[in-house]
Amino acid sequence: MNTTRTVAIVGAGYAGVLAANRLQASLTETERLRMSIVMVNPRAVFIDRIRLHQLAAGTTDAATIPLDHVLHPDVTVIVGEVTRILPERNGIVIDAAKGPIELPYDVLIYAVGSGAPPSIPGGASSHSVGTHDEALMAGAAVRRLVPGNRIVVVGGGATGVEMASELAEENPQMDIALVSAGPLLSSLPQRGRKYVKSTLAFLNVQVVENERVVHVDMNFVELEGGRRIRSDLTIWAGSFTVPALARASALAVDAAGRLNIGFVGHHLWCG
Ligand SMILES: Cc1cc2nc3c(=O)[nH]c(=O)nc-3n(C[C@H](O)[C@H](O)[C@H](O)COP(=O)(O)OP(=O)(O)OC[C@H]3O[C@@H](n4cnc5c(N)ncnc54)[C@H](O)[C@@H]3O)c2cc1C
Repeated sequence: MNTTRTVAIVGAGYAGVLAANRLQASLTETERLRMSIVMVNPRAVFIDRIRLHQLAAGTTDAATIPLDHVLHPDVTVIVGEVTRILPERNGIVIDAAKGPIELPYDVLIYAVGSGAPPSIPGGASSHSVGTHDEALMAGAAVRRLVPGNRIVVVGGGATGVEMASELAEENPQMDIALVSAGPLLSSLPQRGRKYVKSTLAFLNVQVVENERVVHVDMNFVELEGGRRIRSDLTIWAGSFTVPALARASALAVDAAGRLNIGFVGHHLWCG
């Protein structure tokens, strides 16, 4: 009789890799014989998401690390996308290179992170730094611009501020604007916000606060009140949507599609 217990981890981002490594490293010799930790991720690389704005700005040329460089060697990797969770039979369906497979699990760790930007009218004309592929495309678009062109970064949180400042440092010949739906870095204390704003001013980044972008066009972004700001390239660095996996699996989710924490039981952990 096979008594091996399987911990399946969906998503090899920061949360998934840390969970896998810590769990694997915590096992005793006997437990190692009885427990298998399986990581499922669409690619055999770890995406260093906190470097994606640098990839787009051109201040780094790589933001991926082979998974076997960051994962405990005893963790098994399956390259594929989990398309459905079947909690009623403790299984996940994986769209792998050789076709769909079903992996039974005893414990499932859900660590899928976030990714694409939300849909706003005309949003297809903008770029994003939410995923590796998008950041690469944003970087290619930045490099097609000519001096004097304007890049509008949408999003007044840490990612937007980092994106705008990195672009301004690397491309002083460009005109950079940062548009924030609310106050810039609203979670920071006043002193910190003042410091960030003075740094952005030093870098010649034009900051537009308390203005929501409602439409993105090839040549402008439109704000809620109808005002337009010229934009030769728009980069989305606002909030990102969450993967549809939990919703597609008919699990309880919140309005944004995040797995409802109330669902977390002894079979499912949330990353
Ligand atoms: C440009 C940028 C800069 C940032 N800078 C910072 C920073 O300086 N400091 C900070 O704390 N945070 C920063 N963040 C936020 C940080 O990147 C996220 O908080 C972090 O990535 C979340 O980690 P995670 O493991 O939950 O998800 P992720 O890192 O997004 O990893 C999720 C993994 O799950 C995989 N996955 C998704 N769906 C499936 C599926 N169905 N099947 C299999 N695998 C799946 C994905 O491919 C991915 O590998 C930044 C984000 C961005 C975009």
